[in-house]
Amino acid sequence: MTARPRGSLVIVGTGPGAPDLMTPATTRAIARATDLVGYGPYLDRIPPGQGDQTRHASDNRVELDRARLALDLAAQGRDVAVVSGGDPGVFAMAAAVFEAIEKGDPCWASLDIRVEPGVTAMLAAAAAVGAPLGGDFCAISLSDNLKSWTTIERRLVAAAEGDFVIALYNPASRARPHQLGEALRVLSARKPLSTPVLFVRAAGTPDCRVIEATLGNVDPGKADMRTLVIVGASTTRRVGRWIYTPRREGERTSASQRKASSGLLTT
Ligand code: SAH
Repeated sequence: MTARPRGSLVIVGTGPGAPDLMTPATTRAIARATDLVGYGPYLDRIPPGQGDQTRHASDNRVELDRARLALDLAAQGRDVAVVSGGDPGVFAMAAAVFEAIEKGDPCWASLDIRVEPGVTAMLAAAAAVGAPLGGDFCAISLSDNLKSWTTIERRLVAAAEGDFVIALYNPASRARPHQLGEALRVLSARKPLSTPVLFVRAAGTPDCRVIEATLGNVDPGKADMRTLVIVGASTTRRVGRWIYTPRREGERTSASQRKASSGLLTT
């Protein structure tokens, strides 16, 4: 019988940015680790640890290499924390670790591995504006690094046809300036132009900024890689300062509410 490797690996999410949105379980897991592995800016959010904790900062694009490094360290007996932003299972490192295990050294599968959940950007963004995710919703990443634009387009069409509230992650980057405009064109061909569109930048941090628009007047150029975009369902509407999606089916927006939600507002 092969001995079970002694090390451990925990994949944590540090939440959307503000320290008080990091869970106590994640804080504990980071404090206990001998090694932290992650994308540099996410590691920078973590205050210096005790004693001789080692940090392995890397570039954002090499998720699988980072996962292999973490698994290697754990197999050597280290207690490793892999650090992601938001939730580690949402477009982030947890899936990369399991993919590395599937493709890599068979002994990795018997390591002590755990995932600690975190507050994902979509939840912090929704909380900043009210309750837009109150009805059925879906999340789509617009990054085509790991999947084709054809797949993304097919999912956008299905989400529009299913009348889901849609959370768009990775809406834009310097390398991909056109994706969001394309995605919004696909959606506006299938949904009312009065549908609310929210750009929430740096959600869950003191720098949070919200731009509220509609499919008819949205400017995709206003999103960057720190922005989460929420596109409403047919029932998503404004009440006072807030945007929400009722849980009850058939709660249609009245004409006056549609008018109130059609202006572009920056807060
Ligand atoms: N694992 C992360 C998502 C990684 S994908 C999570 O669960 O939140 C990276 C994308 O997440 C960004 O391009 C942006 O769309 C979104 N994002 C991450 N943090 C954000 C924040 N504080 N505010 C708004 N969007 C954010």
